[in-house]
Amino acid sequence: MADGTTGAQMTALAARIAAKRDDLVALTQDLIRIPTLNPPGENYREICDYLDRRLRAHGFATQLIRAEGAPGDSDRYPRWNIIARCDGARTGDCVHFNSHTDVVDAGHGWTLDPFGGTLQDGKIYGRGACDMKGGLAASIIAAEAFIEAFPNHSGAIEISGTADEESGGYGGVAHLAQMGYFNPSRVQHVIIPEPLNKDRVCLGHRGGWWAEIETFGQIAHGSMPFLGDSAIRHMGAVLERFEDTLFPAMAARRTDMPVVPEGARSSTMNINSIHGGQAEQPSGSTALPSHLVPDSCRIVIDRRFLIEERIEDVRGEVEAILDGLRDSRPKFDYALRELNYVLPSMTDRDAPVARTVAQAVRAVMGKEAEFVASPGSYDQKHIDRIGKLRNCVAYGPGILELAHKPDEYVGVDDMLQSAEVMARSLATLLLPDSGPEAE
Ligand SMILES: [Zn+2]
Repeated sequence: MADGTTGAQMTALAARIAAKRDDLVALTQDLIRIPTLNPPGENYREICDYLDRRLRAHGFATQLIRAEGAPGDSDRYPRWNIIARCDGARTGDCVHFNSHTDVVDAGHGWTLDPFGGTLQDGKIYGRGACDMKGGLAASIIAAEAFIEAFPNHSGAIEISGTADEESGGYGGVAHLAQMGYFNPSRVQHVIIPEPLNKDRVCLGHRGGWWAEIETFGQIAHGSMPFLGDSAIRHMGAVLERFEDTLFPAMAARRTDMPVVPEGARSSTMNINSIHGGQAEQPSGSTALPSHLVPDSCRIVIDRRFLIEERIEDVRGEVEAILDGLRDSRPKFDYALRELNYVLPSMTDRDAPVARTVAQAVRAVMGKEAEFVASPGSYDQKHIDRIGKLRNCVAYGPGILELAHKPDEYVGVDDMLQSAEVMARSLATLLLPDSGPEAE
């Protein structure tokens, strides 16, 4: 144990967090009750204003930043972000907690109000409770408790609430990274309180490639399909090739990244949508279809790839299948339109922030932290690629599998424990003489 922190001080810090239980519950409920739905990107300004009041009252200096010109930004749906900073008594590292403020559509199947923030049996329910307003609230409580306990800490603590993570993060972290807010000369450690479970440290995520494939045909009367050419049958041939060659090849690839759940340790692909032929009739319409051979069929694919794969090969593999069909199948032609891609990101498990959070998990929970990686991407990609900051992990309360589901919740005890892990991590990184080996 180094001089900077004693066991007694850490016990006092834990007690201070436990005493904030009601505050944590109320904060989480307040955040859930601001329905920051994305799309379209509602109430971003409202949640930033709320966080602004909260954090300024606790000694943070704040900035509200609109990602003007980012995808989705408009006067009706402005992409607002907040960065709050609390400087310590002397120079040192800056630890940044980044949470996204947006939530996905509530969808069907809820038994409780998705924006009610109901507290029941030690759980807070609502859209975004788990992903990730509970994590945001835990990081705020952790930072406030730490600052109260150690007003003379070194370095700085930042808390950001950012827009649009659920739609790629371009109006949020990507924009802030472009503005230099994640430059390693400014920020040294980043913790993203995404819901990866309170005893796991997430080092990164797989990559993603999204593309639309269109097959073409020739329109004709449906009674004489031989006079036309069916784009849907051509797409059927594409799907057959995917089934015969691509899916087995992807399933056979395994990554060394500790991706959870286990099934995501292979390459995967979802066929997101398929459209072909006439537009669907509005529901309730009793009109009968006319008889046409479809001249266009489109699918959108969602291909998740491993850190061992290259994006060029991911694209090339699909193109080779399509080109093969063009060579072998009469009248087959296609267009491929890339919609977006993100590269995999992986922080070294010996990076200071990864080691620090893992040690704090061990100290608080009495067991080894599990290092994991995420099947889907999150804002770490922008901190890594644009910010060039490689010392970043995701760590937060909430059960990963509950994200985006009906009756999503976060456990109050889980939030308190993860807040303790975050506050201990701050102690390791921001108290003099207390390096990552202090425990
Ligand atoms: Zn999330």
